[in-house]
Amino acid sequence: MTDGPTTSRRIVIVGGGTAGWMAAAAFGRLLGPAGTHVTLIESDDIATVGVGEATIPPIQTFHAMLGIDEAAFLRATGGSYKLGIRFEGWSRPGDSYVHPFGQVGTDIAGHPFAAQWLRARQAGLAEPLEHYSLEARAATAGRFARPIPNGDSPLSRVGYAYHFDAGRYAAFLRAHAEANGVVRREGTVVAVDRGPAGIAAVRLADGSSIEGDLFVDCSGFRALLIEGALAAGWVDWSEQLPCDRAVAVASAADVAPLPLTRSTAKAAGWQWRIPLRHRTGNGHVFSSCHMGEDEATAILLAGLEGSPVGTPRVLRFTTGHRRHFWSGNCVALGLAAGFMEPLESTSIHLVQRGIQHLLQMLPGAGADDAIVARYNRIMTAEFARIRDLLVAHYHLNARPEPFWRERAALPPPAGLAEKLALYRSGGRIFRESDELFNEQSWLAVLAGQSAPLDGHDPVCDALPLDAVARRIAAIERVVATALTHMPPHADALARLAS
Ligand code: FAD
Repeated sequence: MTDGPTTSRRIVIVGGGTAGWMAAAAFGRLLGPAGTHVTLIESDDIATVGVGEATIPPIQTFHAMLGIDEAAFLRATGGSYKLGIRFEGWSRPGDSYVHPFGQVGTDIAGHPFAAQWLRARQAGLAEPLEHYSLEARAATAGRFARPIPNGDSPLSRVGYAYHFDAGRYAAFLRAHAEANGVVRREGTVVAVDRGPAGIAAVRLADGSSIEGDLFVDCSGFRALLIEGALAAGWVDWSEQLPCDRAVAVASAADVAPLPLTRSTAKAAGWQWRIPLRHRTGNGHVFSSCHMGEDEATAILLAGLEGSPVGTPRVLRFTTGHRRHFWSGNCVALGLAAGFMEPLESTSIHLVQRGIQHLLQMLPGAGADDAIVARYNRIMTAEFARIRDLLVAHYHLNARPEPFWRERAALPPPAGLAEKLALYRSGGRIFRESDELFNEQSWLAVLAGQSAPLDGHDPVCDALPLDAVARRIAAIERVVATALTHMPPHADALARLAS
């Protein structure tokens, strides 16, 4: 890469939703001092989606990169803490399990906890996985503490993320971005001028034209540049993930919110419940082939705890991603890049990953073919691995409704089929090199969904079963003791208010 063109680079971001302002805040802070000029165009006439509310722990890396103070961010966004997701009725009606953040158990005499726990569980000598996760138990008990240095205690490594109001988050990041020199232009893009590199300029409704070297399409489902101008193509995943609608509505805030996202299976989809400080976010994700919008809305409202605030809003989407996330001199982020239902709260994370990869792969003069190919390959893999975990939730179910029976009958994608086969043969779980979800996340979901399992890993037999059972019981006691040292989540939230 050359230094020359970097100093005069002009980045134009189209769209001021979560994706646009995340990109603007990152580029302003990291590229602004090197002379890059960042402009963000957003239209006051076109609303943002604004329902992204639940996140996963890597968002802390993004905030560290931006120098964001956690308390200030949570105050500004009505945010609360999150220790995991509770899946209710996903395996079968009445069942429930938590996919927690952080570490579950600890190695047993050099053996991975997962393998020995599966062995002991099959022998009736271990409790459900949640008993060995401080995050899972604290989430259900309504307790929270940030990591406290405390030797080997699980208190020293609490894994957590946040729930927040996506609209307020964009406004918060806007202030950061503008403080770092990002220029905001209000206006509606009505035309795109092509050039040798791909896009030369975008034209606004007021007749003005904004030129750039690199364009970042954050225009949401419209995908104005990447698809509208450049026809990057679409990889459709709606056969595997057929939910294509969500109806969303807020309800009153909980008095003592749990640090937990709830996902409850419904007849043709599922309902989320996300507790913020000033309100609770609710939504029902469903398949329009199996249920109409009126029925889905009625189910959402019947499942609310407390009365709705405002009118339910329907969002339509297709699951999949752009065939080329980066085409010519244009990179798509956020909904313009692709979408998977928020079952594991991964959309904002994928925006973050796109930004991080882009920062590592900025082209010098124009876009470099090798960089573009690499970026597209990496983002495609990131999307596909997350898709596999989402499909696992659906594929491994014993629910009776037609929607669910169809999901169980559909052959899983190749990567997931391999994971399921490995798990079946003795509970083996492997994380692909840079896969987002680690072995413990996969274990939580596969065990929680009652994935078929034959026997246990023979290597486990190197340890006597009764010794393993005693060690597992000791781990449970350590977690239970740690839990007694965790204050109520409400206390942590009250401190934000003071
Ligand atoms: P948008 O919010 O749609 O913003 C698009 C922007 O483009 C707007 O500013 C608009 O004004 C601008 N624009 C559009 N056209 C023009 C034009 N012609 N000229 C100028 N400007 C234009 N993510 C999570 O991480 N966790 C969750 O729990 C979660 N839940 C979700 C639930 C649902 C039902 C949906 C649909 C999404 C959810 N997401 C979640 C995803 C998350 O909401 C989005 O990834 C995130 O908000 C990014 O949106 P965006 O910025 O790409 O698009």
